[in-house]
Amino acid sequence: MSNFDVDLFVIGAGSGGVRASRIAAGYGARVMVAEEYRVGGTCVIRGCVPKKLMVYASRYAEDFKDAAGFGWDVPEPRFDWTAFTRNMHKEVDRLEGIYRTNLDKAGVEIVDSRAVIEDPHTVRILKTGERIRARYILVAVGAHPTLEPIIPGGDLGITSNEVFHLKELPERILVIGGGYIAVEFAGVFAGLGSRVTLLHRGDKLLRGFDEDVRDALGAAYAHRGIDLALSRTVHRLDKVPDGIAATLSDGTVLTVDQVLVATGRRPNTANLGLEDVGVSLDEVGAVIVDGYSQTIIPSIYAVGDVTNRANLTPIAIREGHAFADTVFGDGPTMVDHELIPTAVFSTPEIGVIGCSEGAARERYGEIDVYKTSFRPMKGTLSGNHERVLMKLIVEKATDKVVGVHIISPDAGEMIQLAGVAVTMGATKADFDRTVAVHPTAAEELVTMRTPFVVKKPVDVG
Ligand code: NDP
Repeated sequence: MSNFDVDLFVIGAGSGGVRASRIAAGYGARVMVAEEYRVGGTCVIRGCVPKKLMVYASRYAEDFKDAAGFGWDVPEPRFDWTAFTRNMHKEVDRLEGIYRTNLDKAGVEIVDSRAVIEDPHTVRILKTGERIRARYILVAVGAHPTLEPIIPGGDLGITSNEVFHLKELPERILVIGGGYIAVEFAGVFAGLGSRVTLLHRGDKLLRGFDEDVRDALGAAYAHRGIDLALSRTVHRLDKVPDGIAATLSDGTVLTVDQVLVATGRRPNTANLGLEDVGVSLDEVGAVIVDGYSQTIIPSIYAVGDVTNRANLTPIAIREGHAFADTVFGDGPTMVDHELIPTAVFSTPEIGVIGCSEGAARERYGEIDVYKTSFRPMKGTLSGNHERVLMKLIVEKATDKVVGVHIISPDAGEMIQLAGVAVTMGATKADFDRTVAVHPTAAEELVTMRTPFVVKKPVDVG
């Protein structure tokens, strides 16, 4: 008879925790999962899902405008924030229900409470004080957005947690940051009709992305009327009668209705009992794990954003699945964090897999770069002048495509499929012998024939 109450106690019912729970239960493990907020985690409740719904909402404005060139007479459109957010929250509630049902169906017990670790095999449920003995503990508690850097009046700002619960659409919004979240929400609010200032400490958005993509996004955002305040920081925020006054590093004062701080996320490891039981954390508080997501304490594992490896939902899901396979299933399974297709849901959208041009030069030395920039067919009648950029990076020695970069409508959909080819190790010759699907924008990915000649060295991105 086992002296454990459960085989697995999972702390956190987000993407990684839910997947690990269900797969482990499928292997016959007795599983309990604790969640202090809502089942589904950041992605479902206050991340990817409601964000993407907002992105969809924001793009209608342009669709209505574009329709005129195709003969449609569209009456002055009007956006109703309250109606939209009500529908958005209804969908989030529905998905949370599905997550709960799926856990139930898998035989996983859900505990709606915060849980903390007391020793390598004991978890305390805070709501009831009950102690659960577990053979294994999985920490899948995710991360939270920060309000950093700390400045006077900084708490007047909101984060991506609160942005889904605004009572009204801000007329003027300052978005601080130049990463995924700042870029995505700047695009959302601009599309919905807010006056947007996107302020970033760097001189271009999306550090680490290919320089051509960064340039193209900056140009597109400027063209869309987003006020880009680059190479600047915010010194203080003050409540003023008509909103919030932001004093910038160049001395200017900007008055807005909301300030969205999107300067990064931090692992949720505070007060969880981790350090007390000997689990090591890194300098940002992330749980240190090995390739199998195991911490230094053999019975404690961690997956997802709390480990700060690649902070993306599909990666957390893979890590959770691999953990369950490793501990309860067919044997040790690692997740490859090397080649990850990803999309930024800016408008226009960005899709990327592999190395930027700069990183590829550093890593592979000799490379060929193929790139094209064009106005998509839809723009001819709509009068929309926005351009598409596509770029392939090819390692000269092997002819392998080691980077694909797209900024285009539907770039997220395109990169998912290009990602299959790149993951399989496709060569440029493979791309070339793939028949084009005509007329599409994506066909350009297989019709670029002449390498781009670099006239001057490019920055390492
Ligand atoms: P990111 O790490 O992507 O970006 C943070 C931004 O804030 C950077 O531009 C950074 O500047 C800036 N910043 C950091 N610290 C400071 C500071 N002290 N002062 C001023 N600026 C600062 O974080 P996000 O919060 O945007 O997103 C978190 C993660 O969530 C992402 O990395 C991504 O993995 C994931 N995510 C993925 C999405 C997707 O797949 N579509 C969507 C949303 C999030 P600098 O570049 O100079 O460091």
